[in-house]
Amino acid sequence: MPPAKYSDLTAVFAMEKGVNTLPRVLLAASECAPLAKSGGLADVVGTLPKYLRKLGIDARVMIPYHRVIREKYGAQVEHLFSFEISLGWRRKFVGLNRLMLNKTCVWLIENEEYFGGPLYLPAREGEQYAFFTRAVLETLLRLDWKPDILHVNDWHTGMIPLLLKTQYADTPIGKIKTLLTIHNIAYQGLCGFDFVQDFLSVPEGCFGLVERMGRASFLKAGCIMADRVNTVSPSYAWEICTPEYGEGLDPVLSFRGDIAGIVNGIDKTVWSPGKDKNLPVNYTRSRMVGKLQCKTALMEELGLEINPNRPLIGMVTRLAIQKGIDFIMSVMDRLLWERDFAFVLLGNGEPEYEAWLRGLEARHPGRVCSWIGYDEAVSHRVYAGADFFLMPSRFEPCGISQLISMAYGTLPIVRKTGGLRDTVIPYNAYTGEGTGFAFTRLDAEDMAGAICYALDTYHNKSAVQRLIQNAMTQDFSSDKWAFEYAKLYINML
Ligand code: ADP
Repeated sequence: MPPAKYSDLTAVFAMEKGVNTLPRVLLAASECAPLAKSGGLADVVGTLPKYLRKLGIDARVMIPYHRVIREKYGAQVEHLFSFEISLGWRRKFVGLNRLMLNKTCVWLIENEEYFGGPLYLPAREGEQYAFFTRAVLETLLRLDWKPDILHVNDWHTGMIPLLLKTQYADTPIGKIKTLLTIHNIAYQGLCGFDFVQDFLSVPEGCFGLVERMGRASFLKAGCIMADRVNTVSPSYAWEICTPEYGEGLDPVLSFRGDIAGIVNGIDKTVWSPGKDKNLPVNYTRSRMVGKLQCKTALMEELGLEINPNRPLIGMVTRLAIQKGIDFIMSVMDRLLWERDFAFVLLGNGEPEYEAWLRGLEARHPGRVCSWIGYDEAVSHRVYAGADFFLMPSRFEPCGISQLISMAYGTLPIVRKTGGLRDTVIPYNAYTGEGTGFAFTRLDAEDMAGAICYALDTYHNKSAVQRLIQNAMTQDFSSDKWAFEYAKLYINML
């Protein structure tokens, strides 16, 4: 019997729940790939609607009209209308624009003052996204199309459920249900009470709903006021209900007791080594020769000594404490002196980490490349050309990079936390099972042990071949992922 199509399953599920028409969904977020991206949030917002539409759900997106979008996609953007909104006593311009992204309608909120620069204005992020919050709600009042579900993401849009249920309760959008997805609880949009009162007219009576350590948290407002809250992996869903990972929101989340965990999927039309146009040679699970050519070409591109037999460890990452960069700083020099391997890191972020990585490259010429910057095309070539992909995160809500690396037959070396724990099966030398390597403790030496184990295993060709085959057959398809969200939306109705 052929497998049931997810679109059929969605229709059956809706029928069982007594829902006649599939929900209309609006995803509101700060970024959306490929238009504007700084991390995994953008991948989710860019991919999910496309696959929801395949299931018959009318899913649309609303994000800021960032400068990068204007620069790259301006010619395809259509201006719809403009109006003014109040941000406290201030009057601010809002331009509403539309871009069709692979048949998905993306509404772009325009305001030069807030979105004419980087995605996140240093020291003004609160104001930037307070404006976006108000603009989303006011735009919805003015649009003919109204969603059944407003799916907000992370702190940037976390205040929307609170305003919707208070200031907008008696308007035509007051009955819209809200889902908050927490992609990273460490970022909460903390600001002063006077700020939320001044910019968003949050009354004193609501301060208890946003209070976090004497300040106001956009994310806490969403955690309390959204109709449903979910996060991006089952492990992270329970981790954030504990004081160790909850960043102060664990009491609120465990009180709710309904936090779902849905592992992200990856878009196989973007991330597929068989079709990827960024690679010098394509390869598939049954024809792997191209992967070695990708490795050699990558070594040449990065200025590394060309030695296809030397294991290559790659990283593509934000340079932030979350990503365990300090573990690498503790042991990487020693490992490079003791063991024969090459290392490439593509990333940007904290200047202190960037400087250290430049130094590492200088100390190990030909064996280390520190590519400081953000480069989508190079990232594809690192995923394909490396043998191992290192992700020693302190915490990891889901992680997309390890999913991509497995799809490219590049074995992840990860810390067992959050989504990394849920998606990477550690190598078992006795049974041959596994899709990568893992360590548990928050400890650089534990990470070094896992790296050495991976390097030792590298020379056992049959074990590695089997691991690669296992990794490449994992199903992190977006169809399955979108179906899980469809079920959640339908349950909310
Ligand atoms: P996070 O969202 O915490 O940064 P994820 O693993 O969920 O981590 O997603 C990171 C995404 O951003 C991946 O698609 C990764 O390839 C991409 N990425 C991160 N840093 C860079 C970079 N410097 N250049 C290109 N892509 C990057």
